[in-house]
Amino acid sequence: MEKIKMTTPLVEMDGDEMTRIIWQMIKDELLLPFVDLKTEYYDLGLPEREKTKDKVTFDAAYANQKYGVSVKCATITPNKQRVEEYNLSEMYKSPNGTIRAILDGTVFRAPIIIDSIKPAVRNWKKPITIARHAYGDVYKATEYRPETEGKAELVFTDKNGNESFRQTIYDFECPGVLQGQYNKDTSIRSFAHSCFKYAISTKQDLWFSTKDTISKQYDQTFKLIFQEIYENDYKAEFERLGITYFYTLIDDAVARVIRSEGGYIWACKNYDGDVMSDMVSTAFGSLAMMTSVLVSPDGKYEYEAAHGTVTRHYYRYLKGEDTSTNPMATIFAWSGALAKRAELDGLSDLASFASKLEEACLDTLNDGIMTKDLVGLVSEGFSAKAVNTITFIKEIRARLEKKLA
Ligand code: NAP
Ligand code: MG
Repeated sequence: MEKIKMTTPLVEMDGDEMTRIIWQMIKDELLLPFVDLKTEYYDLGLPEREKTKDKVTFDAAYANQKYGVSVKCATITPNKQRVEEYNLSEMYKSPNGTIRAILDGTVFRAPIIIDSIKPAVRNWKKPITIARHAYGDVYKATEYRPETEGKAELVFTDKNGNESFRQTIYDFECPGVLQGQYNKDTSIRSFAHSCFKYAISTKQDLWFSTKDTISKQYDQTFKLIFQEIYENDYKAEFERLGITYFYTLIDDAVARVIRSEGGYIWACKNYDGDVMSDMVSTAFGSLAMMTSVLVSPDGKYEYEAAHGTVTRHYYRYLKGEDTSTNPMATIFAWSGALAKRAELDGLSDLASFASKLEEACLDTLNDGIMTKDLVGLVSEGFSAKAVNTITFIKEIRARLEKKLA
């Protein structure tokens, strides 16, 4: 069989530990036999980051900017213990943080759904994708705990030194707490563009929610910026595709989400997204089935799994023990990236391969062949058998070969 051709390179970012092992298995079994894979390879594994003093991470992010699409393996974010374990000269920053800062992107997380694992919310039938604005708010707030009586004020001094705003926040008659939050129009705008672009890219409705009735300046600013960008830049395209942009209050959104059947993107402010993404992913079943896409405001894409490097399994793997780590989210990162590359380059064979690969994965799970983490989640009436990672991948390959024949 002739291999499927690519034109523009896909930026490939390799990673660490168990996911690095799985990365190679996926390439060997599911990609290289079928696709004339054209990638620009960056090794973001911790040893290479150390060797290049993290330059490789920056180079990978710039390549993502240049070519438009990347696929990333999970990577270790070093902490004190990792600095010792890998004998690092520095505690390098999170690669995801570095890439996100360079692309100025928003992360979209969506679950992979299968028939035999029912979401905790019965009526959810389609994925709910959460977009979190990962900038500012409480995560960059200045906090203070006054221990005595006294007055707290909000003051703004412009760049010429003129005090243009001063208002009492509270006249404390006893100890209390204070918090100063901020956000920036530029960041909110980038967030909005990424959300509208991703909704168009995936042809899904976009919901956005804040608490603008209470927060009449802060949250209102988010609402107005989204509305303005929608009207000016995306309304026509949304109407052409038959998708909608829908703004509502956060508490109304929560109620509607629970009653809905899914199938849309829910854009959230930073804190709401932090909380809601954990709730939604848990209700859908498993972190091992959660995919993640970083989308920049100018339409660059980085696909990855939402989970980490699965360290506990890796240590077992190193001891020669059998591991049943779930490769689904990493495979879907590849299929997502290949499908996007196919779309941008107009490659119908590659697009068809990407969707057949996903179908082969879902067929394998629907046939009851699963990794260990999923077997315990299967609903009554379905049967499932746990296999190790390589057997699971080979089962997918057998089904993929049939589809491609
Ligand atoms: P993790 O790698 O996501 O794993 C936590 C636990 O979740 C695992 O021990 C495993 O549970 C289960 N799990 C996660 N993915 C799984 C999969 N594919 N198949 C089966 N089970 C899975 O999180 P972590 O242990 O907190 O972090 C490990 C390393 O990953 C850290 O160094 C962290 O910096 C890094 N990390 C990277 C990213 C990223 O690159 N995007 C994201 C998060 C964390 P059991 O052990 O109970 O089976
Ligand atoms: Mg969280």
